[in-house]
Amino acid sequence: MTDMLQKTGRLADHIRKDDPIVKYGDPILRQIAKKVVQVPDDMPELVERMGQIMHAANGVGLAAPQVNLSIRVIVYDVGEGFQAIVNPQILRMSGEQFDPPEGCLSLPGLQGTVKRAETVFVKGLDEYGKPLRIRAEGYAARVIQHETDHLDGILFIDKADKETLHWVTAEEEDEEEEQGILSMTRE
Ligand SMILES: [Zn+2]
Repeated sequence: MTDMLQKTGRLADHIRKDDPIVKYGDPILRQIAKKVVQVPDDMPELVERMGQIMHAANGVGLAAPQVNLSIRVIVYDVGEGFQAIVNPQILRMSGEQFDPPEGCLSLPGLQGTVKRAETVFVKGLDEYGKPLRIRAEGYAARVIQHETDHLDGILFIDKADKETLHWVTAEEEDEEEEQGILSMTRE
């Protein structure tokens, strides 16, 4: 897999120049992303680009398939520091949480309530290939579960309580920001 990507250029070259975030309807969002067998030298560059794209879109998490790369890499930042995880694997989950409503940068404007585990224990690699283990709770745990789902072709609308799915207007989003309510898409 890594070889295939290297033959076709640097990882970050796969990101689209205009409108880099892949939107709902693109088949890459439904694919099972490939495991990174060996972390290539340009992974830090990819992760940095993903961070820039995520922050520019006011997002708190982003998965590689959302930037047109079907590989198992996620990044997130819920205000506790930027983190990348290559080949994230959720080893343990406990508890449950329902708030705040989720959104997705690939489905801009849509929100809904998703039941998630309150605490997750994740293992994977950092962007340099060094093993890492993370215990996350609350919002960070929610984002990790949302982004890891992307790697299996699962979107939050698949898991959301259907009755809560709704389109958010720009006005409502402004209000939510004032109230300090976090969502995964604040455009
Ligand atoms: Zn998403």
